[in-house]
Amino acid sequence: MTFTWTAHRFAGGALALDVANSVILRAETEKSVDRFAASEQIDSFCEAAILLSGERDVFPALLPPTSANRQSLIDLREATDRYFRTLIADGLDDDGALADLLTASANALRNAPNKHSLESSTARSVLGLLAGPDRERIRICGNCGWLFLDRSKNRSRIWCDMAVCGNRQKAAKHYRRKKETAL
Ligand SMILES: [Zn+2]
Repeated sequence: MTFTWTAHRFAGGALALDVANSVILRAETEKSVDRFAASEQIDSFCEAAILLSGERDVFPALLPPTSANRQSLIDLREATDRYFRTLIADGLDDDGALADLLTASANALRNAPNKHSLESSTARSVLGLLAGPDRERIRICGNCGWLFLDRSKNRSRIWCDMAVCGNRQKAAKHYRRKKETAL
């Protein structure tokens, strides 16, 4: 099956969150898929992100990491997910997870061949989330578990993407209700 980086896959609203969301169904070990496992998919992520990422104005050019730097991108992705997920899910601002995230960001910045490299742009996106007002808007999607920025006025979004995850939940609820009525 061919895979495309559709607009839905950039529902994170920040480059660092879209990178973290490149692991699909992270919590379900058996169903989990790492979209960055194939380097071509990191290449196509960069091509799509400059058009679809919520931070496309901040990062108008993105270059895939060199093979030597691929692991530092993955380390940064995992540290990003771990820190923000713990913060949002458990309300725990963990010093160790933050230190890991800062180390992974520093490594990505230090090793990147130039500032348009995906790993250095992701690190800058992380630092923006840590230090800026968007930190308060990070959420975990109630359907797919992705991290996303809630930009709604009353900060009440529960789906990363209403058109996809919101509808899936609505359909599941409808199906359950129909089933219950039938019993
Ligand atoms: Zn979702």
